[in-house]
Amino acid sequence: MNVQRLADLQGIIDVMPTPIFVKNRDHRIILLNESACELFGHAREVILSSSDYDMWPAEQVRVFHAADDRVFALDTFDEVEEQVTNAEHSVRTVITRKKKVIIGGEELLVAVVTDVTAYREAEARNRYLAFHDVLTGLPNRMLLNERIDQELLRASRRKSEAALIYVDLDRFKEVNDALGHQAGDELIRQFAERVTAIVRASDTVARLGGDEFAILLHDAGDGVQTAEICNRVLTAARQPFMMTEGQAHVGASLGIADLGSGEVNRVELHRRADVALYQAKREGRGCYRIFSDELDGRIKARRALETDLRCALTAGDQLTIDYQPLLSARDNRVMALEALVRWEHPRLGLLTPADFLDVAEESGLIVALGEWVLERACATVAKWPEVSLAVNISPGQLSSENLVGRVLGILERARFAPARLQLEVTEHAILDMDGAVETLKELRAAGIKLVLDDFGTGYSSLSHLQKIEIDKVKIDRSFVAEMSLLGGSSAIVQAVATLGSSLGIAVTAEGVETEDQRAFLRALGCEELQGYLLSRPLNESETGNYMKRSAATARAA
Ligand code: C2E
Ligand code: MG
Ligand code: MG
Repeated sequence: MNVQRLADLQGIIDVMPTPIFVKNRDHRIILLNESACELFGHAREVILSSSDYDMWPAEQVRVFHAADDRVFALDTFDEVEEQVTNAEHSVRTVITRKKKVIIGGEELLVAVVTDVTAYREAEARNRYLAFHDVLTGLPNRMLLNERIDQELLRASRRKSEAALIYVDLDRFKEVNDALGHQAGDELIRQFAERVTAIVRASDTVARLGGDEFAILLHDAGDGVQTAEICNRVLTAARQPFMMTEGQAHVGASLGIADLGSGEVNRVELHRRADVALYQAKREGRGCYRIFSDELDGRIKARRALETDLRCALTAGDQLTIDYQPLLSARDNRVMALEALVRWEHPRLGLLTPADFLDVAEESGLIVALGEWVLERACATVAKWPEVSLAVNISPGQLSSENLVGRVLGILERARFAPARLQLEVTEHAILDMDGAVETLKELRAAGIKLVLDDFGTGYSSLSHLQKIEIDKVKIDRSFVAEMSLLGGSSAIVQAVATLGSSLGIAVTAEGVETEDQRAFLRALGCEELQGYLLSRPLNESETGNYMKRSAATARAA
């Protein structure tokens, strides 16, 4: 091409922001614009006086030339994505669109280049982000699922030794609350590193979110290795975590589901690991549990019971209350009636609190149940103004929103004097619940009496109790039961009775079943007694009769 023509074209293409160059049949660049020079990173003179081999790695040049030859042969557009190494040795990804043109009788190739490096990098970053957790860099749920699907496919061909393990940190929320989110994030990162160091490269450690992780063990070696790895993860979680904000102690709970012969699908596998984890948490955390059909059955039954309890709370006629009297140790006068909830289950028959309180606690239904009991018991016991009403309060109620307001509301609507209500709480509930002490203080300030139930089974520290000023301590029936058999128990009962009277706290004993026990407890100075010897829990109409009889006896005396 003549020089003047080239110069004319040069002026035009230099205006264009897109890199453009023209090559002749010998693969020599004869014309290129400013943008192309920028892209290649060489001065125009250098490019025009060099061959491709001078500027680019040979393997790249071979690709370029093959594309050039295709274009010269085919007389159609050719568009390829290529890697170009520029003068600074940085690799750019470009899409080059080439077309044969004939100028002045000469076959030439015009190439227009689009630099897609930033776009491709963003794409790669998005792909990475879509499959990884930003905080830890671990695979996320998507990538885990992909790997699970591969394992399941493998398992369908040949029995698999793979296992899915759910890992959940215990007490992580407390670290977050105490040391802040930054420390929480750091702990998560450190824990991710610890777990990654425990498993093999062929295993997948994923973060599912929050403090939940999962491990996909490629080869669990008949469960032996699973147990080994689980124990190591448990140990790793228990080691203190050092952060700039301070030191933290957590733990972990693990749930294991085996892939077996791949007969389960991915969703079911996740569910199984979750069921096993749930069980590990229920059994006190800091341990691992393995999914089994038997476990699944038990947990399904619990969930069914939860649904049934929800219905029972609205249905109205399945829940009832029994009342068990507390008698004065001195003169057998009825001092109070303790409300004990019962559930006439349509399928399972009569259930006692032991059968369903756990489920109520775990599901939060305890709050509604507790309100129902209080409302109903107030209405019933209002008939006997000379006695108090004792109602049990469990941990879930103590930590519930605005317990004080709701209790006082119920009392007001029932026109039931707060001083006639005794709330029975356990030591465990008071000491384990945040804010329980404050709540109890408010209740007591409103005139409600506080009773420490099942005393002796918890920390048994009366000093704890001075913090909230208890009105009454109820010695647990296990001590009363053993009292006549072992000297030890009676010493405990004696100590509580003495300490109670010195602190001005009334002492009651529950579970009194024999005359010997009654005589002994009386001698120790217990003020009130409760138990089968005196009366079993009675249903509403039995309670009415009982109260009539005891009123008659009192008059006769
Ligand atoms: P608790 O408050 O310690 O109640 C005493 C339990 O001992 C009752 O069992 C009662 O039937 C039983 N009992 C009474 N006298 C004797 C005796 O002489 N010998 C023996 N072996 N047992 C006796 P129940 O009704 O099964 O209640 C169990 C627990 O469930 C209660 O223990 C209480 O903590 C809880 N509970 C009962 N009703 C409610 C309720 O409405 N709300 C809440 N939150 N908890 C409740
Ligand atoms: Mg009680
Ligand atoms: Mg008790």
